[in-house]
Amino acid sequence: MLRRPRRALALSGVLGLAACVAATQDSEGQWKVHAKDRPQPPVVAPGTAGSATQMGTAPSDAIVLLSADSGLDAWSNAKWSFDGGVMGVTPGTGDTLTKDSFGDCQLHIEWMIPADRECNGQMGCNSGVFFQDGKYEVQILGSNPNQTYPDGQAGSMYGQYPPLVNPCRPNGEWNAYDIIFTAPRFSEDGSLLAPATATVIFNGVVVQNHSEFMGITSHGSQAKYSKHETTGRIKLQDHGDPINFANIWVRPLPDRAPAW
Ligand code: MG
Repeated sequence: MLRRPRRALALSGVLGLAACVAATQDSEGQWKVHAKDRPQPPVVAPGTAGSATQMGTAPSDAIVLLSADSGLDAWSNAKWSFDGGVMGVTPGTGDTLTKDSFGDCQLHIEWMIPADRECNGQMGCNSGVFFQDGKYEVQILGSNPNQTYPDGQAGSMYGQYPPLVNPCRPNGEWNAYDIIFTAPRFSEDGSLLAPATATVIFNGVVVQNHSEFMGITSHGSQAKYSKHETTGRIKLQDHGDPINFANIWVRPLPDRAPAW
């Protein structure tokens, strides 16, 4: 059984009476999926150094998935474009997935919405990075500026948690995600032992702080878990928009024994 987010617990405690709850919150004060009146994350201007440096080099122990001379060898969809280290969605050809599978991992990925692209909510500037064969999405969306439901903007755990703040760069500039993903754990009988989690650093700014996925990403409905393998391919979404990617690398993270 998953805990409700602390924020929702605090909010319901403050409000006390269900009568005070907005229409897009349930009787316990929890936001409904894609509630448009959920508070918008504050806009933050990202810095310019560190992880957001385009075409930086990967750590020596990383598995490089996309670099200046990698081609598309690590990816399943040969119809996406590759030019000078930049991989681009070829709209209508479908998603692309890594050929290899990963469990707990650290992922670095840079993405850019073309400068002339018009973003309108979820349309025009949409992609996403998914873990575990498409099950857990960190949203990629042109979000500077672009109003949409907060749990669907850039850096959100789609349909679940908005980013804590919005440090998205304008179209035509590169953005960077550093994501620490932990796969869920299940018991033999299929019950959930530990949820999937994500820490997301977006242009050097923490936007998800070890947040627990409430279940497998779904659109327009509450997420639920069902047992699956704890490794899976990383997927980038073809949402019909020509999003660009660069400098993608991953570091599998080992299980740690207890310190004592
Ligand atoms: Mg998406």
